[in-house]
Amino acid sequence: MKYIDNVDFAKKLQTTSGNIDTQNLIRASELLEELSGNLQYTISGYINNKNKPVLTVQVCGKIMTLCQNCLEKLDISIDCTNDVPIFYTESDMDNAIFGDEAEYTDGVLADAHLYIQSFIEDELIMSLPIAPKHETCEPITYHDKPDSPFSVLTK
Ligand SMILES: [Zn+2]
Repeated sequence: MKYIDNVDFAKKLQTTSGNIDTQNLIRASELLEELSGNLQYTISGYINNKNKPVLTVQVCGKIMTLCQNCLEKLDISIDCTNDVPIFYTESDMDNAIFGDEAEYTDGVLADAHLYIQSFIEDELIMSLPIAPKHETCEPITYHDKPDSPFSVLTK
């Protein structure tokens, strides 16, 4: 399955799972400068107690990137599970996530052709550390701000 009709998928309590090669994830790769590894995902749909369709997304795997401190290779274990409610309009979604009575932290718009890879990529990006680094390592010395996630871009 490459695409799902997300509302229908949730209403029918469907489940799908698969693998994604992170080298195909352009946005995440640009964010991290270098990215490889495979992710396994499972998406399950349900209707919550407020009668809202929700997708439960589970993503796990090991990805390889560069440490933002020393620029050597760094493995990151990804293991996240998120409930992503589906909204019918952008304003509904904004209110529910950012409004005064916000009750959700994540959301996706109703989409009859939700591209799974891109949806998983969004979840991956949200679960990534802002500046991935080794727990201990020697910082590179030729940058003003070795901690900046974008320092590698200015090299
Ligand atoms: Zn390092």
